[in-house]
Amino acid sequence: MNHKKEISVVVPAYNEAENLPLLRDEIARAMKNITGDYEIIIVNDGSSDKTQEVIEKLFQDDHDHIKGIQFRSNFGKASALKAGFSEARGKIIFTMDADLQDDPKEIPRFIVKINEGYDLVSGWKQNRKDSFVKNTSSKFFNFITSLFSRVQLHDFNCGFKAYKSEVAKGLDLYGQLHRYIPVIARNQGYKIAEIPIHHRKRKFGRSKYGPARFLNGFLDLLTVMMLTKYFKRPAHFFGGLGSVALAMGFFIGLYITYLRLFTGSIQSRLPLFIAGILLIMVGVQLISLGLIGEMFVKNYAKEDESLKIKKIIKN
Ligand code: UDP
Ligand code: MG
Repeated sequence: MNHKKEISVVVPAYNEAENLPLLRDEIARAMKNITGDYEIIIVNDGSSDKTQEVIEKLFQDDHDHIKGIQFRSNFGKASALKAGFSEARGKIIFTMDADLQDDPKEIPRFIVKINEGYDLVSGWKQNRKDSFVKNTSSKFFNFITSLFSRVQLHDFNCGFKAYKSEVAKGLDLYGQLHRYIPVIARNQGYKIAEIPIHHRKRKFGRSKYGPARFLNGFLDLLTVMMLTKYFKRPAHFFGGLGSVALAMGFFIGLYITYLRLFTGSIQSRLPLFIAGILLIMVGVQLISLGLIGEMFVKNYAKEDESLKIKKIIKN
């Protein structure tokens, strides 16, 4: 029974009882035009509505294509995706929101891109059907993420994505990290494409992400920076700033010394003198901070070399 499938669709579901049967039908219809077998893995992320009953019923009706994972509690979308990925047997693994906002009719377009050689194909909700506040804040978030990570995408946190199996299985997701999947995948050297997709309004159930999203924005930003290459080298970042400050302070000090020795007074350059001292102190502090950061990163960011290898040829 553990044979390979062509496609796995991982669906994280938190209180999505009304949506799931419709979603199953839409996915099944889309799969008719695709060669190869498929499976739908629904991860019930600790729902308090009838989601679990619905999943059991769907499984009764279609053993071959439905798989259900039930969490003991609400652990969040990132954990749900991770659990789904480890159960997935497809060569291509899709993720899709349970709320019918993503349209399964788009599945073949993702497959085309994967077959062109991309490792991860991410959807772009170009014409997003959510509230004004959500749409604008997400534009801002995407802009900042793109700026810091240098990954040129419009929509990082789109729930609709397709992965080559090993890409999805190599992602170590926790907390809110599902929002940065393209950044993580790019850091592991994978090729990423983005395609605009049809996005729909939520009909049943409610959005799970409220205003708390904004409060988390600042911390999210730090996470993105931690994940990007630059911040894996704190000695370069802080050390760079520190060296500039130190050099400025040093030359100010030289100038003041020159004045004192050759004119006998520092000629009311006291503010400059103080600024010079401050720059030297700040410079030394920043450089030390960078070095301490470097030691910290060395222990913290345990790199998994196996994720960097594309292929091994051996006997
Ligand atoms: N979701 C989840 N666990 C959570 C919150 C959300 O599995 O703790 C699922 C949810 O059921 C949906 C997807 O993640 O399938 C996206 O959630 P939502 O539609 O609320 O986000 P939005 O589209 O409003 O950004
Ligand atoms: Mg949604």
